[in-house]
Amino acid sequence: MPLACLNNGDLLTSFSLTDDQWVAIKTNYRGMNLSMRCCSSQAIPKVSSLGTRFFAHKSRAGCQTAPESLELLQAKFIIAESATAAGWQASTEESGIDPDGNPWIADVLCTRRKTKVAFEVQLAAQSFDKIRARQEQYRRSDIRCLWLIKLRGRGSPIQSYPPCRDLPMVLLDVREPAKMTAEVGGSREASIPLADFVKGALTGEFFWAETRPGRMEVKIQIASITYWRCHLPIRSSGDTSSMTT
Ligand SMILES: [Zn+2]
Repeated sequence: MPLACLNNGDLLTSFSLTDDQWVAIKTNYRGMNLSMRCCSSQAIPKVSSLGTRFFAHKSRAGCQTAPESLELLQAKFIIAESATAAGWQASTEESGIDPDGNPWIADVLCTRRKTKVAFEVQLAAQSFDKIRARQEQYRRSDIRCLWLIKLRGRGSPIQSYPPCRDLPMVLLDVREPAKMTAEVGGSREASIPLADFVKGALTGEFFWAETRPGRMEVKIQIASITYWRCHLPIRSSGDTSSMTT
C-alpha cells in the first residue's frame, strides 16, 4: 500500500497533495492513467482507517511486494509530509542499488542538494544484524539512514543495543497511530511527535550526543606547538607548563 503511484508515467505522491487535489483525484481517477510503481497494476486512491491517503492495487496478481500495515503507511506519510515541509524532497518506497549491485528500498528517502537521508520504519521484529547490514548498504550508497524502531516494552532485544552515531536508532511509539511519537534522548518522558522529530533531524535541531556517564574510547594525538615569536617548540613538564624562548 504505497503512498506513491504513477500518473501517466509521472510520480504522484499522496502526501504532497492538497485536500482539493486529493478530492479531484478521488473523483476522477477512473478517467486517469494511475498505475502502481511496483507492478504496473492500476492504482486506486484510498484512505485507510487511520486516515492515511494512499494508493491501492486494483489487482495484486503478479505483484511481488508484501502488503504494508496501516501503522507503517501512517508513519511514512508523516515522515514524508514533514520532510517536504522542512524543504526536503521526499520520496516513499524509493529503490536504488548499492555499489555492489545489491538493491535497496527505502521507506522514505529525503534529498536536499547532494545530501540523502533515509528513514527506515521497523515495525516488525528484526534482528540487529540485519539492521546493521542494511545500514552498511546505505553507507556504501552515500545515504545516511535513521531507524525508527517500534517500541515493544523495555525487554525487547533490539532495544538493548545501544544506538550510536553510525547506526542511529530511535524508538517509535505507535500505540496511538494518529499521534505517533519518537523517543529522543532515550527516555519516554522525552517523547515528541514524529513529525517534529523528522523536522528536527533534517534541519539540524537535533544532533547526536553520547550518553553520559559511560566509557568511551578516545584517540589522543600529541603534536608539537611552536611559540609564535621564536618558532621553537613549547614544552611542558608535570602540572606546570613552561616555555622555552
Ligand atoms: Zn504491485
